[in-house]
Amino acid sequence: MPRLLIAAVLALSAALAPAFAVTGDKAEFVKLVDDVYAYVGKKNDANAMAIVTSQGVVIVDTGNNQPDTRDFAAKIKGVTDQPVRWIVVSQNHGDHIGGAPYFLPGATLIVHERVLKDLEGMKPYQIKSWRKRFPEREAALANAAPADFAMAFSDRMTLSLGGKRVELYYVDDPYNIGDVAVFLPDSGIMHAAFAGYNTRHPDIRPDYSHGTTWGMIKQTEAYIALKPKIVVPAHGPVGGVGVLENMLDYLVSARQKVRAMIDKNTPLPEIVKTFNMNEYAGWDRGSHFEWMAETIYRELRGEGPLVIPTVEKNTAGTITRIAEEGRFFAVDTGGGAEIRLRVGTDTNFEGVADRTKLAVGQHLTASYEVKEGFNPALGYDIIEAVVTP
Ligand SMILES: [Zn+2]
Repeated sequence: MPRLLIAAVLALSAALAPAFAVTGDKAEFVKLVDDVYAYVGKKNDANAMAIVTSQGVVIVDTGNNQPDTRDFAAKIKGVTDQPVRWIVVSQNHGDHIGGAPYFLPGATLIVHERVLKDLEGMKPYQIKSWRKRFPEREAALANAAPADFAMAFSDRMTLSLGGKRVELYYVDDPYNIGDVAVFLPDSGIMHAAFAGYNTRHPDIRPDYSHGTTWGMIKQTEAYIALKPKIVVPAHGPVGGVGVLENMLDYLVSARQKVRAMIDKNTPLPEIVKTFNMNEYAGWDRGSHFEWMAETIYRELRGEGPLVIPTVEKNTAGTITRIAEEGRFFAVDTGGGAEIRLRVGTDTNFEGVADRTKLAVGQHLTASYEVKEGFNPALGYDIIEAVVTP
């Protein structure tokens, strides 16, 4: 890409998203260079990307939620007649991969081997819920599972489509759960996968379900070495290589803070309470600090992921209260006893299309997960629920 154009794109992205500001109130479809577009999530929601080639469209991730996925697909249709034929999964989390069924069948999921293993291990209720994620796709996916559409690789893969190169990079780490960066060497554009956070504090958890800070450091270093000119982070405004350099500094500094407290024999509860990254003013999701502190604590002490014993239970009763369009609700299980339940991405409903169709007075039987030490007031995660009027 010519230097002037790069400068223009960076100026444009800077104008669209001033430094240290979250993204806008509505998702935006932004042209980065000819044939390459970023779908920038609203308020630092997940960012996706579309690469148009003469052999079809390659997308990287699928939009933060169902309305965004449909909007993303419509925006792609607005710029090309080519169908979406490949979906590169940069990270295996709902806000990145959740829209995949909208493009299936007809497209191929390109994933890291570790993600394929996860897809192959999906339980029947998860597959049922996956098929129903987009009612307009349900019939077409009636007998399908995500692993039916997947192609996996181990550390590096290159797509060469209509003269365009799309390079996929996996940086090995015991706890990299299959995060993949996508690099376009011709234009210097990169989707930086999980390691790419801009103006949002990273979502790192003690169970290592989102990787580790050490893994993120390895990833950011490897990605910076590719000298990307435009970086589409997983979350936050599009920027230059500075997005990754910033994140590298952030991670090193976060680890130093926790290390300093460990060196002073500060107990974990105190570290969790004190730790912050407040010098990153204007960044959102300060709510991630507690998990981040505990994760770094575990990493620095050489502890593996936190494993929380979980058991499955069943309940039956009548819905008495509903909040957040059915995301949370309470069930009267008889004799004045109440249980609070929470709907997850994988929750499978029978008897209603989805959680938005729940109503007070409906009868329901449900299986749910109880994690050791979990606060019941927050609502147990439902596995499956059968609803009757
Ligand atoms: Zn995400």
